[in-house]
Amino acid sequence: MKQNYAIIGLGRFGGSICRSLVESGQEVLVIDSNEDRVNEYMNIATHAVVGNAQDEMTLRSLGIRNFDHVIVAIGEDIQASILVTLMLKEMGVPNVLAKAQNEYHARVLEKIGADKVVHSERDMGVRIAHNLVSKNILEFIELSDEFSLAEIRVTNARFFNRTLIELNFRQKYGLTVVAIRRGNGKVVVSPDATEVVQEYDNLLVIGTAEDVDMLDEKIN
Ligand code: ADP
Repeated sequence: MKQNYAIIGLGRFGGSICRSLVESGQEVLVIDSNEDRVNEYMNIATHAVVGNAQDEMTLRSLGIRNFDHVIVAIGEDIQASILVTLMLKEMGVPNVLAKAQNEYHARVLEKIGADKVVHSERDMGVRIAHNLVSKNILEFIELSDEFSLAEIRVTNARFFNRTLIELNFRQKYGLTVVAIRRGNGKVVVSPDATEVVQEYDNLLVIGTAEDVDMLDEKIN
């Protein structure tokens, strides 16, 4: 399903999310107060607009409340990031993802209603975009710099009716299956290697984000 995205702030983070979303066929509106940055994305994004997102009229005139996802990728200006996130939630944007500069900033963003807060200072925009558009990654939680926990829907029939040992997750994908959520809602925690993967299963796996992405591609 195609959804629409708006990205506020075209630094490295917002920029890489934009590129990845466009590559995966999504419609993306980008907004930045810096004209040079906007010009860079003129031919990449679906729409690119110069504007100050702290100005409520600007946000309203862009129809920001009609977007499924808005990503607040404002860098250093923590005050702006907080104000914009607050306005977006007040306007009723269903999914607001905001980038936090530090732990305190993250706590404030969560308090004022950001649906997802990304702590990372590193260039992980590509990964996040992958997550937003993947139908099969239902949940993605960073456990540490290195490891993430993801819940992935199994849709490829090649995976059905085979045991974990046959599927060889650890060797093949570098992932550990920590639980299986069955179609009927039952959860098998710490499944044996002989557990059989069935249709309608979700797998909870731990591994690096790259490995999760790799499995996501294979499992489709
Ligand atoms: P990153 O760490 O992702 O590289 P930067 O600080 O370089 O972040 O980029 C943040 C971007 O957000 C800049 O391009 C800046 O112009 C933009 N920005 C900051 N404040 C606002 C605002 N109020 N409205 C629109 N864009 C903003």
